[in-house]
Amino acid sequence: MTPVLPLIRKQTVAAYYNVPEHFQVYTERQIDKIEALKQLSEAQRFEMKVVANVLPFRVNKYVIEHLIDWQKVPDDPIFQLVFPQKGMLSPNDFEHMASVLRSTNDRSIIVQNANEIRHRLNPHPAEQQSLNVPCEDNEPIEGIQHKYRETVLFFPGQGQVCHSFCSFCFRWAQFIGDKNLRFSNTEAEKLHQYLARYKSISDLLITGGDPMVMKTDHLVAYLEPLLRPEFDHIQTIRVGTKSLSFWPHRYVSDEDSNQLIILLEKMVKAGKHIAIMAHFNHWREMVTPVVQEAISRLRASGVVIRTQSPLLNHINNDPEVWAYMWREQVRLGLVPYYMFVERDTGARRYFEVPLLRAWQVYREALQRVSGLGRTVRGPSMSAGPGKVEIQGVSEINGEKVFVLRFLQARNPNWVQQPFFAQFDPEATWLDQLKPALGEEKFFFQDEYDAMQKKQTSPRAYE
Ligand SMILES: *Cc1c(COP(=O)(O)O)cnc(C)c1O
Repeated sequence: MTPVLPLIRKQTVAAYYNVPEHFQVYTERQIDKIEALKQLSEAQRFEMKVVANVLPFRVNKYVIEHLIDWQKVPDDPIFQLVFPQKGMLSPNDFEHMASVLRSTNDRSIIVQNANEIRHRLNPHPAEQQSLNVPCEDNEPIEGIQHKYRETVLFFPGQGQVCHSFCSFCFRWAQFIGDKNLRFSNTEAEKLHQYLARYKSISDLLITGGDPMVMKTDHLVAYLEPLLRPEFDHIQTIRVGTKSLSFWPHRYVSDEDSNQLIILLEKMVKAGKHIAIMAHFNHWREMVTPVVQEAISRLRASGVVIRTQSPLLNHINNDPEVWAYMWREQVRLGLVPYYMFVERDTGARRYFEVPLLRAWQVYREALQRVSGLGRTVRGPSMSAGPGKVEIQGVSEINGEKVFVLRFLQARNPNWVQQPFFAQFDPEATWLDQLKPALGEEKFFFQDEYDAMQKKQTSPRAYE
């Protein structure tokens, strides 16, 4: 059973942030400099380096010193969340990379071998580049994805990194230095032009990386113009961020923390809904005094904090971890929003669980929270056609099926229409599911094929 956590007292918080911590980060070249890792064997550290030369690695001192329980390493969930593990690569790829590292120090050879492995790890799941990036005069508008009618995703150029990297991140390809694989945009103007033009857009979702690594000045440049009347249709601005977990000091003791809180407050007072989409994978990320102080400062500014996370083997594959996390979130005034299925990219082999298991964890966790925690939807696969939720397992005319529905879709008409797949206890992603009840295709397939052929979906929102 999960231990009961003590309530955090205000005095401890004040004491904590009167001695501000400095942000200090370690990447793959500095693995040997991380004091805490010295408790591991040389062989274990080498394994980490092998994986960290293929998948992005970055961790900061706050995570190392305050979130990881080093007594429980390697099983500690936060250790698993940020430190590379051997099983994240296939045995072949691991051995290959290990032998490259043993035989050379030449960066270009190492990088070339790493790239070959990376390209086999499906760096761009769900047709993100081909179908989501809108065009103007046949030129793609960089830094914008527009998949669902109401919501535009924006990748600000200064926000394409995070305070630490999650080992399972589906955006991992952005962090390995390949410019082709990066979504980013330094121009606020292009974003504003696009938003002003399409009145069907009600939500702007600023994402990354982590937009909260940006200085407040940059956020001001993106956000404040949206208070002008031509943006009245933009009702909600969401910021997707892992900063509450990895660097809650962003809201408490950074140089421009107060400025940030003032900006958020100003947007809220002017009538916008500001939603912080906080990424929490485990309740352990929510228990330090500084994160609780950050949450209370954010809430006092009038923003709403919603939470989301994928279900991950080795980190949170346990209904009690989710139930405890959701109860704590409700207590702290956060709104549980999405439980995702680990996507079909990067280190999925290490983190994925069968869809059946995902549904069981969701259901059991939901049974252990009150109605206020049941705002969370899922388990949801963010796939090419849309977000597909596993609603459950049922039997129709003697055939065992998965009941599915779109929570969000490229064509809004697909949303909330139940559909059925053959029950498969091993399937881990939508592309492994087959239509049930004698159907040849899922109901959306023809239309989706046509969108892929014409590559039209983002431009369909005139
Ligand atoms: C999840 C997601 C959104 C937001 O969808 P909501 O259902 O409104 O939360 C927008 N764009 C993309 C590409 C997404 O994956």
